[in-house]
Amino acid sequence: MLPKVSATSGGLDLARRVAPNHTGRLVLTTLDPHASPQRVLLVEMLAEKGFIGERLAQGEVAAYAIGPGFLSLLTFAGCAVRIRSEPDAGAPFCHIQVPPVREHPYLLAGRNTRAPRCVGCRARLLDWRERRAHWASHPHAGVTCPTCRETRPPWLWDWKQQGGFGRLFIQIEEIFPDEATPTPALFDLLIRATGTGWRHFYIQD
Ligand SMILES: [Zn+2]
Repeated sequence: MLPKVSATSGGLDLARRVAPNHTGRLVLTTLDPHASPQRVLLVEMLAEKGFIGERLAQGEVAAYAIGPGFLSLLTFAGCAVRIRSEPDAGAPFCHIQVPPVREHPYLLAGRNTRAPRCVGCRARLLDWRERRAHWASHPHAGVTCPTCRETRPPWLWDWKQQGGFGRLFIQIEEIFPDEATPTPALFDLLIRATGTGWRHFYIQD
């Protein structure tokens, strides 16, 4: 049974309704944070290859059920894989969201995100949370390292796999950080669909 979702409730509402305690999401985005692949073509290709299935929610944030090829395109850690593909009594269930392409590189971060490190001297940028609003409204802002004084855009700091910048995100709910990683075949598929490289990280709201 797929949930009946009205035209007014978007994917975000869906996620909120079924996930009071957010386990986490696996996020896929382009290596180049400025890249803006065609979302419609990408979704079509992911559906064709069975990564995503039926559309669950109308609205700005498109939400999809997992497709028949989903489990073969991710590698799961541990032997007990508990993937619920249907909503059940408010428990987290696995689905995929593809929000609209953003105008500029945008930072996705969560409670698991730690201060990024300078790639030159490894110093941490401790006040990154206070800088987020500025980065969102000043897409070309550079960040000067408090230790070595080198200036780089915020996406060239080392966020590890705990956050990251991009314009288009594929968000796989609900995946605990490191519980699942994309296979080389999934990266190949993304590269073929968009002509650009991809990477992944994890976010917990
Ligand atoms: Zn530095």
